[in-house]
Amino acid sequence: MANIKRYFIALNPRWPLRRYKTQSSRHNPQVRESRPPAKLISRDISLSGNLSKGSIFLHQNCEPPPRLLASANAVTFVVATNTKIDIKSLQFQELEVKVREFGEPLYRARQIADWLYQKRIQSFDEMTDLPREFRNRLAEQFDFSKIDIVRVLGSRDTTRKFLFRLSDDSLIEAVLIPASPALYGSRSDRRTLCVSTQVGCAYGCKFCASGLEGFSRNLKPNEIVDQIIAVERESGEKIDNIVFMGMGEPLANFEHVMGAIRIINAPSGLGIGARRITVSTSGLAPQIRKLADEPLQIRLAISLHGATDEVRDQIMPINRRYNIETLLSACDYYTSRKKQRLTFEYILIASVNDSDEQARLLARHAKRLSAKVNLIPYNTVHGLPWTRPSQDRQEAFLSILRDRGIAATLRREKGHDIDAACGQLRLQTKREMLTASS
Ligand code: SAH
Ligand code: SF4
Repeated sequence: MANIKRYFIALNPRWPLRRYKTQSSRHNPQVRESRPPAKLISRDISLSGNLSKGSIFLHQNCEPPPRLLASANAVTFVVATNTKIDIKSLQFQELEVKVREFGEPLYRARQIADWLYQKRIQSFDEMTDLPREFRNRLAEQFDFSKIDIVRVLGSRDTTRKFLFRLSDDSLIEAVLIPASPALYGSRSDRRTLCVSTQVGCAYGCKFCASGLEGFSRNLKPNEIVDQIIAVERESGEKIDNIVFMGMGEPLANFEHVMGAIRIINAPSGLGIGARRITVSTSGLAPQIRKLADEPLQIRLAISLHGATDEVRDQIMPINRRYNIETLLSACDYYTSRKKQRLTFEYILIASVNDSDEQARLLARHAKRLSAKVNLIPYNTVHGLPWTRPSQDRQEAFLSILRDRGIAATLRREKGHDIDAACGQLRLQTKREMLTASS
């Protein structure tokens, strides 16, 4: 059932319209009433159409309430939103509470979880050991969305990339990385899935395809968990490692990412050990501290990509908010609370961050935190000017770290040929769609 909510949205004419995708699909809640004509958009939602005609659409997942933004140029209107949450966004304990509310015996929660995460059915109707009336009531109260795989690149035994379409037509991607020694953490990493946490990314790192078209929205826990289920179904393979290194900044979607991690980790969910789950961040210092206070022993990777503020400022806008020292002291706090070692991700970009000096400073940071370093040769992104250093330069950079006793690896890139870096397949597909429709 749709609920009617009244929202106040301040319009900020300084935001460029092109950075925000307009959406209109049958899933999008409709705005029923409006005042002045307006073109825009808050950071968390997107509008299309003309407010003055009362026929605009809000993005489906503008979770109430949208951010209120101060501006003289404001508009108030009423929005119908679908406030149903997805059954796969519930933790097991929440399922138990719901089951009790419905007056059903507690073991029903176990049955539901079993259908969702072991048998992996795709509708309430298939939960055949639940009474029909109970199934109907579940369907009334909860969504049961699924995500469609619209494209797969690569083949068995190589890196495979999956492009998904979500229920509001947003595109996201995940990358399946085959067996590879100690990519993240444990000695015998097997099949690793790199999942997305947002549609697009607001952090605009200069080398990254995900940030190129700005940010659309956060993913819900179920949309994160469904990437894993869909890839296991499509590939027939069991995934044993999860890295949050696809599109988006996981720590900017903290609650939903934690919700997904709990489901991925829970024995009643996907049952993947916390040590086999790695969250990667571009450096949101306060959220790193918050993550440190979470009880789960998940791993953390920091996308450093520069050993000085000067270099980092150039390629990662987040560094102007949280500079290297602020970031490293949040990391100190993290390591004081967790048993796992941190990993520094470091993309090698020719003539930007690949000097001997950067390597020496990187070694110093890594030593301070007993962190491992994962060097990644830059993956070319269409439309961006950067290139990867020569093989010799990459090896020289690696040697400087190793000579200083740092546990460092150089990723001999898999999937370079299939645009494996985050955000690239989506971007390429969107460009092809645009070309086809023009
Ligand atoms: N926002 C988070 C997680 C997603 S990015 C973060 O930044 O850590 C995941 C990883 O892909 C990051 O380490 C990022 O730096 C890397 N990446 C992005 N673009 C790349 C490119 N063109 N070549 C190689 N790695 C890239
Ligand atoms: Fe966002 Fe990470 Fe890409 Fe930076 S590297 S734009 S934070 S996804």
